Amino acid sequence: MILFDRVAKKYPSHITALEDISLKVDRGEFLFLVGPSGAGKTTILRLLIREILPTGGSIIFNDWKVNKLKNSEVPYLRRQIGFVFQDFKLLNDRTVSENIAVALEILGKSQSVVQERIHEVLRIVHLEGKEDYFPRQLSLGEQQRVAIGRAVAGKINLLLADEPTGNLDPKTSWEVLKIINDINKSGITVVVATHNVDIVNSMKKRVVALKDGKISRDATKSRYV
Ligand code: ADP
Repeated sequence: MILFDRVAKKYPSHITALEDISLKVDRGEFLFLVGPSGAGKTTILRLLIREILPTGGSIIFNDWKVNKLKNSEVPYLRRQIGFVFQDFKLLNDRTVSENIAVALEILGKSQSVVQERIHEVLRIVHLEGKEDYFPRQLSLGEQQRVAIGRAVAGKINLLLADEPTGNLDPKTSWEVLKIINDINKSGITVVVATHNVDIVNSMKKRVVALKDGKISRDATKSRYV
């Protein structure tokens, strides 16, 4: 589903963020991207959604040659990919339902489809009954679950999460990872960039470790180090 073939990324400041990255991810996999700050984890995620272009190599997602897409084709790529951030990025003046609705309205869904899907999504992220709350009325874990709901609302086939538990305590982090794991079990491929050693060690998933922009380890049912 994802193929990075000898991908390199130098930022305009001449910082080499990635060097010679080759990586294959199959449909339905769950993968942790780990490594110290600055290792290149976020750069990999940003390349996948074509927020930035590689300076070498090629990236394929499904049938898309990501680095060759025309700008007009990029929205179609992004419709298939959900993204979750460390700081949630919710619309604070909108309710839970409205935050999720925004993702669906962009896709041109009718109001009845939007309402139906909001209910399904709230069930997936265990937030039934909170539809009319504003983000400030929710705990941080609940806010992240809204963000996950928004990310999966459009029936994506890849979920990317960049430090999704970076602002959360251990118990809440577990709740969030349990939901992400359930989403993976429903058939969605998942890539999580994280520093969370406890979670990576306990979940025994594939772990791709980055160091100085290179893959230093790629192992299944693995631990953080
Ligand atoms: P990680 O997510 O593992 O912390 P990043 O992918 O954010 O790593 O960063 C990899 C390297 O690229 C770091 O040296 C970082 O400073 C650099 N970098 C990231 N984004 C930019 C940017 N927009 N401009 C210049 N350098 C950047």
